[in-house]
Amino acid sequence: MRYVIANWKMYPQRREDALRIFGDTVAMMGAMRGIRVAICPPFVWLPVVSSLAKSTVWLGAQDSGWADEGAFTGEISPTMLKNIGCRLVIVGHSERRTHVAESQEIIRKKTVATLRAGLFAVLCVGEQQREGEWEKEILEQTRSAIADIAQDNIQRLLIAYEPVWAVGTGKADSPKDTVTSILLVRRVLKDKFGAAAAEQMPVLYGGSINAQNIHGFAVEPEIGGFLVGHGSLDAGEFSKIVMAARLKEET
Ligand code: PEP
Repeated sequence: MRYVIANWKMYPQRREDALRIFGDTVAMMGAMRGIRVAICPPFVWLPVVSSLAKSTVWLGAQDSGWADEGAFTGEISPTMLKNIGCRLVIVGHSERRTHVAESQEIIRKKTVATLRAGLFAVLCVGEQQREGEWEKEILEQTRSAIADIAQDNIQRLLIAYEPVWAVGTGKADSPKDTVTSILLVRRVLKDKFGAAAAEQMPVLYGGSINAQNIHGFAVEPEIGGFLVGHGSLDAGEFSKIVMAARLKEET
């Protein structure tokens, strides 16, 4: 099973465009074996599009609060997200780490809260630059983010390896180097959860994936799916990515 997750970032600006993109995307996805698609619009569009989500296309959120309830003005709890039909939450996206200084501690708490609410967590990790001690950066970031996750919840844990220099830049990593980094992530998962569990855990790639470059990544079985930003805002482009992402033995 591969996962393809659409991150709409802070787009679109208008309700009718959110409805159109979501509706067109769902219409282009038939029942597909071996692939799970989720679309993560901005919070305000979640209730607007939720009735269009189907078993074939899940609704997801780009972020969540770390507490289940309480005096946290401006925050949204994972329970609320679940209540309006979300199945999945992106946690620790690099744009949140960069623009709102989301800390490792908060990311750790958000991951636990998301899983505790019964949602899938897509936990993002990745180095800033491919230089210096970048491998250590991946190892430490992953180790810290998963530190408090209970073994019981790992069936709903997905990791997205997203090198920061590749996100939103148009410069994707190479498929070969992506696999090398995914194996680093998997080493941390093995230490924490054991080899058997870690082998089953999907590690996705994200960073400037589009309908052209997806083919080079899709042939690598180690890549458990894709987190797609800009390429997910056009239903036609996104559906080409999804079709190409299917594992050959499952199509
Ligand atoms: C993302 O938003 O997680 C992402 C990978 O963006 P893009 O595909 O635009 O690089």
